[in-house]
Amino acid sequence: MARADVDHYANTLLDRAELIAREINSALAEANRLQGDACGSDDLEHLRKIAFTARYIKDVGRLVDKKLACSSFLGVVTPPFEIRPPDLSTADGHKIWVNTPLRLAEGVTALVVEAGSANAVVDPSAFLDLAYQPFRYAIAMVDPDKRGVVRSWGRRLVDDSVLIARTDKSVDTGIDLIRVDCSKDYFICATAALNRSEAIARQSKFVSGFGALGLLLGGFLSSIGFLLRTSPKPLSTRLREALRSNQLTLVFQPIVDLRSGRMVSAEALIRWSDREGNAIPPDTFISAAESDGTAGEITAYVIRHVTRTAGPMLRDYPEMTITVNIVAADLTDPNFYVVLEQALDASGIIRRQIGLELTERSTARQDIAISAIARLRQLGHPVYLDDFGTGYSSLAHLQGLNLDVIKLDRAFTKSVGTDSVKVSIVPQILEMANALDLRVVVEGIETQAQYAYFASTNPPCYGQGWIISRPLSFDKLVSFKAEH
Ligand code: C2E
Ligand code: MG
Ligand code: MG
Repeated sequence: MARADVDHYANTLLDRAELIAREINSALAEANRLQGDACGSDDLEHLRKIAFTARYIKDVGRLVDKKLACSSFLGVVTPPFEIRPPDLSTADGHKIWVNTPLRLAEGVTALVVEAGSANAVVDPSAFLDLAYQPFRYAIAMVDPDKRGVVRSWGRRLVDDSVLIARTDKSVDTGIDLIRVDCSKDYFICATAALNRSEAIARQSKFVSGFGALGLLLGGFLSSIGFLLRTSPKPLSTRLREALRSNQLTLVFQPIVDLRSGRMVSAEALIRWSDREGNAIPPDTFISAAESDGTAGEITAYVIRHVTRTAGPMLRDYPEMTITVNIVAADLTDPNFYVVLEQALDASGIIRRQIGLELTERSTARQDIAISAIARLRQLGHPVYLDDFGTGYSSLAHLQGLNLDVIKLDRAFTKSVGTDSVKVSIVPQILEMANALDLRVVVEGIETQAQYAYFASTNPPCYGQGWIISRPLSFDKLVSFKAEH
């Protein structure tokens, strides 16, 4: 059990390190597709877009005559910045500085990788959120020429020679259980260790302690805690078990016309509590399910559950809609369309009453998004763009998509009453939506001031948020509708 947890943790660490390496490579490849003149306005915008969309990259820079001439964060650098020789050069032309002081933050050092005429600064905290007590961890970058460990994060847990050889290894020193996992594609190894006496304690009380700790710390830690706490079965297996044993349930959050207060629709939101009763946040397991290809099963589950439960209510209120969140993979999955059709046929619900929410991110492949949206709308479903404003939807992108509704991300809602730049663009977004004949649902309304702001726009917005209602069980939703 403890052995499996150590192995699993090492594997999670290596996954992260490889994800970062892939992200660096694709950011550099993209940055080397020069847009216009080096450091011109198109180039800077391109660099900013790359830095903005990458999760573990803080800055992307442009090199002219081997000097840093501009970057996504610094803008144009005058005079261009001299760069010292790299710590390491790889056979495929990458130059690496393992711990270079940053111009963009004094006193901070980071890993910088250069290829062609671009470089990328890796977020110095890229590994910090992986710490997980009482495990110890290390990520090591090793020299391709086997001379040594060039940079490591975390603690030194094994002899450098083990890392330089880049061989996977399970070690039991009598004191520690250790696992070394090395990448096949990059010069990186991840090591995880657990003290044996901790491991024994863990068999008894640890299991519950882990859950509490995970919940307390939230975010990634809770998801990794969740991955480690129970058996090391892959998430896909556990998710299927959860689907079968009804650990997944649905709640519904009302959406109201802000002017009249009338409830116009409700969003179905999934909930997962594991056997110990710990709630696992949906964003965490949905994105994990997206990576391992099980997200489609969640979508199918939600569609079947909604259509089985909500039929009578939707017949009583023919103007009302229930929306279901879908993921990018659904758009190209033939099974998704089959499930949708069968569920609707079996329940007799009319298609106009089941809306589909897709995130801005999942419309990145515009060609795929356009044809899928057209297909869904042709079937009769209203299509919503979720979390609008978090991605890179330009006006042209929106126009091409041909949607019914945009859901304004709650970052904008939060900005109301502040002097954030976000609030200043809200009127433009609303105007644009109006011109494109799109309805707007405002997400995350928490205060009276936010409510009043969006109720007084012309035309008035629809809204969803805690001040209106938290997500409700289906029975409570029915009562809410009767009152609104
Ligand atoms: P989303 O689709 O943008 O859903 C809205 C989220 O905002 C929900 O979080 C909701 O509980 C939360 N929320 C609503 N009002 C407020 C408010 O006033 N303040 C704040 N701070 N939050 C508010 P939840 O349920 O945790 O879901 C998070 C995300 O997980 C969803 O974001 C959606 O992307 C995903 N998700 C949830 N259920 C499903 C599902 O069945 N399928 C898929 N594919 N994704 C789902
Ligand atoms: Mg949604
Ligand atoms: Mg949303």
